[in-house]
Amino acid sequence: MNESCIFCQIAQKKVAANIVYEDESFIAFHDINPQAPVHILIITKRHIPSAANLTDNDSDLIGQMVLRANSIAQEIGLDNNYRLVINVGKDAGQTVFHLHMHIIGGQVLGRIA
Ligand code: 5GP
Ligand code: ZN
Repeated sequence: MNESCIFCQIAQKKVAANIVYEDESFIAFHDINPQAPVHILIITKRHIPSAANLTDNDSDLIGQMVLRANSIAQEIGLDNNYRLVINVGKDAGQTVFHLHMHIIGGQVLGRIA
C-alpha cells in the first residue's frame, strides 16, 4: 500500500470506484474518463509502479492479469473484440504509476500500432 497512490486507495476501498471484478490479486473497475463505450481498468492489488518493474517472480501474476481481463471482457459482452493496453512510462502515456491494464472496446478501434 502506497498511501499517496490513487489505485492503492481504490484497492483498499478508501476511494470509490465502479468495481466489476475482484479477487485476492486483482480489482477491476470502470475508467473514470472512458475512451470508448467499454473502458475498464484491471489493477494488481499489490503496488507495482509499472510493467517495467515486473520481475521473473511476477510471471504468474501478469499471466493471470491477462486471463482475468479476458474473462471480464467476455462477461461484459465484448465478444472477443477488444484491446488490452499497458502504458509503460510517461512517454507512453502512463499517468497512474500503479500497474494496470486497460480493457477497451465496444466500438471499432483505430490502429495505434
Ligand atoms: P494510464 O494513463 O496511466 O495508462 O491510465 C490511467 C487511467 O486511470 C486513465 O485512463 C484515467 O482516466 C484513469 N483514472 C485516473 N484516476 C482515476 C480514478 O480515480 N478512478 C478511476 N475509475 N479511473 C481513474
Ligand atoms: Zn498503488
